[in-house]
Amino acid sequence: MRKQVVIVGAGAGGASVAAEAKRQDPSLTIVMVEERSQVSVAA
Ligand SMILES: Cc1cc2nc3c(=O)[nH]c(=O)nc-3n(C[C@H](O)[C@H](O)[C@H](O)COP(=O)(O)OP(=O)(O)OC[C@H]3O[C@@H](n4cnc5c(N)ncnc54)[C@H](O)[C@@H]3O)c2cc1C
Repeated sequence: MRKQVVIVGAGAGGASVAAEAKRQDPSLTIVMVEERSQVSVAA
């Protein structure tokens, strides 16, 4: 079965988790949920 990861919050933390999860398992499907209209303000 295809594995999916749902990350709540598309800030720096969420993006870091998404990147690391993909590094660990490139076959993962990752969905990021963000309540605001824009993603991270971190550089
Ligand atoms: C004015 C200001 C300027 C800054 N300038 C810089 C800068 O120039 N460079 C830099 O590196 N850092 C900067 N920072 C710091 C940077 O914003 C934080 O260090 C970084 O955003 C923290 O990331 P985080 O993922 O932990 O949290 P957050 O960025 O707060 O991310 C959490 C996300 O989760 C979302 N969320 C929360 N609850 C839910 C929910 N229930 N459903 C869906 N989404 C949800 C929030 O909307 C948010 O987008 C600045 C901060 C501020 C306040």
